[in-house]
Amino acid sequence: MNEINLLSSKIYNRIAAGEVVERPASIVKELIENSLDAGANKIIVTIQDGGITQIIVTDNGSGIDKTQLKKALMPHATSKISSLKDLDSISSLGFRGEALPSIASVSKLTIASKTNDQEIGASIFTEGGVNSEILESSCQNGTTVTVDNVFFNTPARAKFLKTPRAEEGEITSLISKFILGNPFVSFKYLSNGKTILQSFGDGLESAMVQVYGANVINDCFYIDTVKNGLKITGYIGKHYFSKPNRTYQTVFLNGRRIINQTIASAISNAYNSYLMTRQYPFYVLSLEIPFDIVDVNVHPNKLDVRFANNQIIYGSIYSVISKVLDGSGEALNIVSPTRQPLETKTDNHYNFIEKINNDYVTHKKDIASNSFVFSDSAIENKLLSNYKEKEEKEKSIADIFAENKAYIEKLEKEKIEQKQFIVSQEKIKIDKKLNLIGQALNTFIILDDGENLYFIDQHAAHERILYDKLNLAISSNDIPQQPLLVPYVFNVNPSEMEFLLNNVNNIREIGIEIEQFGNDLFKISSIPTVLSHLNLKLFIDNLLSNVNGYKSISLNDILKEKVAKIACKSAIKSGDKLTDSEIDFLLKLLQNDLGLKCPHGRPVAIKITRMEIDKWFKRIV
Ligand code: ADP
Ligand code: MG
Repeated sequence: MNEINLLSSKIYNRIAAGEVVERPASIVKELIENSLDAGANKIIVTIQDGGITQIIVTDNGSGIDKTQLKKALMPHATSKISSLKDLDSISSLGFRGEALPSIASVSKLTIASKTNDQEIGASIFTEGGVNSEILESSCQNGTTVTVDNVFFNTPARAKFLKTPRAEEGEITSLISKFILGNPFVSFKYLSNGKTILQSFGDGLESAMVQVYGANVINDCFYIDTVKNGLKITGYIGKHYFSKPNRTYQTVFLNGRRIINQTIASAISNAYNSYLMTRQYPFYVLSLEIPFDIVDVNVHPNKLDVRFANNQIIYGSIYSVISKVLDGSGEALNIVSPTRQPLETKTDNHYNFIEKINNDYVTHKKDIASNSFVFSDSAIENKLLSNYKEKEEKEKSIADIFAENKAYIEKLEKEKIEQKQFIVSQEKIKIDKKLNLIGQALNTFIILDDGENLYFIDQHAAHERILYDKLNLAISSNDIPQQPLLVPYVFNVNPSEMEFLLNNVNNIREIGIEIEQFGNDLFKISSIPTVLSHLNLKLFIDNLLSNVNGYKSISLNDILKEKVAKIACKSAIKSGDKLTDSEIDFLLKLLQNDLGLKCPHGRPVAIKITRMEIDKWFKRIV
């Protein structure tokens, strides 16, 4: 057997870096978390070339004392926990003591810091895991971490870096989430000298506007409630305000941004009956639960958590969101018409958690039995504010729901209409001569071939013919285009921008003239003539559902769906009386191909054999 080696800290850190430092955005995440843990309320992030050349994070937090600088760079060195017991109730974002040594092992890193007590600051530089001496540094209170040349010594990893623009996009999305999760911290984020995002630390509403634009507030409900010891606050999109992918879904748990399946499915199931396929709810939600019923030490990147009981979390969130969307009376206690900013993560936050920690004891018995049935907690009852306030709320909520009712009905209708477009490849050519018997019920054309009867659905047949024709034009690249009178301009987030830039040529290939139109805008200036009735918003939403690979649907499938709709609209309807020459024309187009199905999957023709008819009349048994 080979000898077992104890790995040196240099190798160990490099291995840990594999988990913690995946790309520049993961470095930015760790550095901002450190700033937040240090109590900073002002954080400036500056990057060059998507963070590959340089990342600088400056904060006005507690700072690191000169005597501690070397320690901060050592593995498993943290000021945030000290005993095993602390692991059961982690309230800081960091606790593993891994980030700084991991980052240092794959970059050139400088920390300059000054605490309030120090006259003059200090700095340390480290390259490939080798530290410099501590130097004096004339910096302000707080910490500045500079990371140069990420992965300069790990070429294998550097190969996996995307383009600077794509890496910048990742960092932009990440910082928008930090802005939303820390509304009382002001962030400034610059890339290659240009300000990309800025927040002012004056509350959640303002943070939402900085990240998503001014209109978003009107498209959301602001909710603020407690259910089963779980405090839920934040914005959820109104029924009609859906998004084409999940990049608009943000959840914070005790101040930490997480992506958790239990929470995501609870919300998505609550929205289920309101949203069409490939439409996803918008939300920015902050959850607060007792620290000791959630395990945050699940993954080195700390993006997922484990709950003591998933069912309670699921049930509580599902019930709150459904009540709001269904507009039930109880929604009045959840939705807040006057939107308030989220409480800052100050003492209030922890006082609240302490309070629900106590209340939670009363629920523990139910948790153990996995029961969904809870008596209302004391806090919930408190929410039931005085009668007058409730009446006022009732009025404005009634308005909100009336406004949305029409939308919901429209969506429901469209949802029913939206079916799977399964197109059969089966082709049954009839070799025999077909005799026309005539049109029946203004819907069916009846033919016989001497042995069998054929009923042709005139709408399905025509629809299929048009569909094939349009597809042929598209696949042979013979697509006449028509310019739009007013170009269609739409807004995208960084992930969507990256996706569209990668797909511009594919989209142009199907005859849609699309180009980038500024920092976060795209413009469509012409579309194929055959798609002149295209609802561009829906089309783009469908397309963007590909972002992050949450749903894989090819451009071609989307296009086929559109083409099928157009064919359906333009085809002869059932109920249209056809002249003999119209019937002739249709049959010629059909070229005796009766095995076809319409684009919605319904049959074009039905064959009734002589034998079946004989059986009806008991000629044979
Ligand atoms: P962790 O955050 O898990 O403790 P890190 O490696 O990220 O581990 O940081 C190590 C230690 O360095 C922290 O525990 C903290 O004491 C100190 N530190 C890092 N960044 C900052 C900062 N921006 N401000 C103050 N202290 C910091
Ligand atoms: Mg940390």
